[in-house]
Amino acid sequence: MSNIDSLDAHSHAASSSAAPPRLSVVIPLYNESGSLGLLHQRLSTVLEGMSLTAYEIVFVDDGSRDDTYAEVAALCAIDPALKAIRFARNFGKEAAMAAGLRAAAGDVVVLMDGDLQHPPELIPEMLARWRQGAMMVTAVRRSRDTDPWLRRQLSRAFYAFFRKVSEVALAEGGGDFRAFDRAVVDAINSLPERTRFMKGITSWVGFRQEAVEFEPEERAAGASAWSTLRLLRYAIDGLSAFSTLPLRVWSVIGLAMAGLSGLYGIGLVVRTLIFGTDLPGYASIMVSGLFLSGVQLISLGVLGEYIGRIFTEVKGRPLFLVAERIGFDGDRKPRR
Ligand code: UDP
Ligand code: MG
Repeated sequence: MSNIDSLDAHSHAASSSAAPPRLSVVIPLYNESGSLGLLHQRLSTVLEGMSLTAYEIVFVDDGSRDDTYAEVAALCAIDPALKAIRFARNFGKEAAMAAGLRAAAGDVVVLMDGDLQHPPELIPEMLARWRQGAMMVTAVRRSRDTDPWLRRQLSRAFYAFFRKVSEVALAEGGGDFRAFDRAVVDAINSLPERTRFMKGITSWVGFRQEAVEFEPEERAAGASAWSTLRLLRYAIDGLSAFSTLPLRVWSVIGLAMAGLSGLYGIGLVVRTLIFGTDLPGYASIMVSGLFLSGVQLISLGVLGEYIGRIFTEVKGRPLFLVAERIGFDGDRKPRR
């Protein structure tokens, strides 16, 4: 089995021909030195056992602060199927996945986590689905038992809300363990947006999608890099990238409030005509004043979210910066 040498050597027709496909596995890594050896070993065993023309494993080191990259480089030295990209700093998992998808050259590309929560042993099953015609195969977690209770509830609420509010439906429990056909990878790579939300993007591009189930494992080593705050940030990013309802809903709320206060005004006039003037009313004034200013602040905040997003897109900065690469054609030699 040879490794995939050139970025542009792939042919789009290969996926439909009878020859075994070339497979790329893309793995974002952030402080994963503890699980890297085992990951490489398990993954290689699985890939060697499959009938493939060639395979490559693309590690994207997302600015790890431990010796993840040193270990990746050492593995690259002994295994020609490995390729590595090192970011100049931590740009986040979404950027790392985007970089890996751009670098991958295979007819099929599998995206998976580097902490072994995504079992490599599932790849043959995903590939079998691809052979039967699926353009994208998502590995869906059978249960979220490895997550804390509160996070499970929050995640469920998020998915329910997202479904209501957005133009794309997210597969609940579908993480970032997926196999893509070349055509889908090209489609994803062609999206220019800087605020990346892979769950939404994969659903937005469409194509024939199928799911396989798997039981998530505990993290092999280290800790999840996702604090609850970071997850919240991620959820807001996802919503604002795939829905404009939070922007539009304020006109409806404004109309409703104007209508109600109009009715209230008419009621007051009628009451004054019938019963004469009375003065009390501090409470209602306070309540309506406070409530309305609260509503206005919320809507300003929502506007701010979207304007912030426009700002990031308009600046046009790259999604990530690459410090070093190993195994790609025409690369300068990595500095030691
Ligand atoms: N990851 C990354 N950049 C980050 C955070 C995480 O590339 O800033 C990688 C991490 O190394 C792992 C995957 O993304 O391979 C999933 O991360 P994690 O296990 O922390 O997320 P969880 O499984 O808790 O969703
Ligand atoms: Mg994990």
